[in-house]
Amino acid sequence: MHIAGNVQTLTPLQRELTEVAATLGRERFAPRAERHDREASFPFENYDDLREAGLLKICVPREQGGLGADFATYVMVAAEIGRHCGATALSYNMHVCSTLWAGVIADALEMTPAQRADHEANRAVHFERIARHGKIYSQPFSEGGAAAAGKAPWGTLAHPVDGGYRVTGRKIFASLAGAADYYGVLCTVDRPGATQRDALYLAVPADAPGVTVTGDWDPLGMRGTVSRTLVFDDVYVPASERLMPEGLYWQAALRFPHMFATLSPTYMGIAQAAYDFTVAYLRAEVPGMPKVLRRMYPTKQVAVAEMRIRLEQTRALFLQNARDAAVDPDKDTRMRLYAAHYTIMENAQALAALAIRTCGGQSLLKSLPLERLYRDSRCGSLMLPWTAELCVDRLGRECLYEAGERDEAIE
Ligand SMILES: Cc1cc2nc3c(=O)[nH]c(=O)nc-3n(C[C@H](O)[C@H](O)[C@H](O)COP(=O)(O)OP(=O)(O)OC[C@H]3O[C@@H](n4cnc5c(N)ncnc54)[C@H](O)[C@@H]3O)c2cc1C
Repeated sequence: MHIAGNVQTLTPLQRELTEVAATLGRERFAPRAERHDREASFPFENYDDLREAGLLKICVPREQGGLGADFATYVMVAAEIGRHCGATALSYNMHVCSTLWAGVIADALEMTPAQRADHEANRAVHFERIARHGKIYSQPFSEGGAAAAGKAPWGTLAHPVDGGYRVTGRKIFASLAGAADYYGVLCTVDRPGATQRDALYLAVPADAPGVTVTGDWDPLGMRGTVSRTLVFDDVYVPASERLMPEGLYWQAALRFPHMFATLSPTYMGIAQAAYDFTVAYLRAEVPGMPKVLRRMYPTKQVAVAEMRIRLEQTRALFLQNARDAAVDPDKDTRMRLYAAHYTIMENAQALAALAIRTCGGQSLLKSLPLERLYRDSRCGSLMLPWTAELCVDRLGRECLYEAGERDEAIE
């Protein structure tokens, strides 16, 4: 079954790249997933494969040596990777977003001619590193405070100095910590009265003096992301390392909300994998398992039908979301986006839970992928800025309020 639904509706590039991702996922990533999950180790070999297949440069524009994939094409590929290794898909998202945000998303935003020229020059350097040299980027934003929820300025500060910035701060849950070549941090330009508008998206070289990776990494799920803590201690970063001009991230977050929806394709893939596993299990086709058929029981047929219905509901929203992505979406599109993101994250977990109930105790063995899917799927709803709670929060408010409307608090 194609994760992006009807193959006839796909562009030639979508068909080609989802096929590449499916082959890599099935033949390389899936067999390695258990070990990286068990060890909580980073899948460097998967990144070598992604590099070789050209997928590290998927969203780098063609004229700069990339594959020129748009938002919809990227999320389809990411979901296919997530179907085989959730942790690889999630960290791959952090890498690809660096190019998607600096690329097609930045193209859709307003800049002065000087900012645009500066941005073109800077991003050419980032694109070349990725397209020609296979470098890996990450996106450590979270700090443990209100900033990653979009409710306060970033606590990591970039103090302007001659030729660049001196960066000081701490990022938690930084996927690819110790694996990326460049950490794309969000920080606040350190100037008097700085607000959220003064956000700066800056690539900090992993080997710059003052950068350290600290802390333990032994979580419930998504263990292969190796999301340890990064500390930046007065790190000098040249101005040319800007991934966006000062202030542009703020504009992007307001005007291109689909930029945050790139976190859910991984979980679309996990939802699909939970269904795939259940069908194979009930048909007695799981490698290494005794050939005991279970598909003839009506209870199993009902359960798998319920799973398929939930999977198709999830996929419908996933695809709609993929095709809706554009600058300045209207209010209904934005609300559908929150609903889609919430649905994908929560349904991935619900489908993994249903899969375990349906397949039974033997399906829980660590030699099989299902218990990993169950643990990995639980992580989706926790991803800021759009946790399940915050999607509901935004949706509820926007269902009832139009811009500018407010009520007096009732004691
Ligand atoms: C496997 C994994 C990989 C990750 N990789 C990355 C990464 O590469 N880069 C990165 O930046 N982050 C990453 N994160 C971090 C993630 O996006 C969250 O920042 C992190 O999980 C938040 O931790 P917390 O739940 O303890 O946050 P808390 O801030 O304690 O929030 C807890 C919950 O409270 C709610 N909440 C938080 N703030 C508000 C608010 N202001 N108003 C109302 N409700 C609020 C939210 O629903 C949130 O889920 C990763 C997380 C995981 C689990």
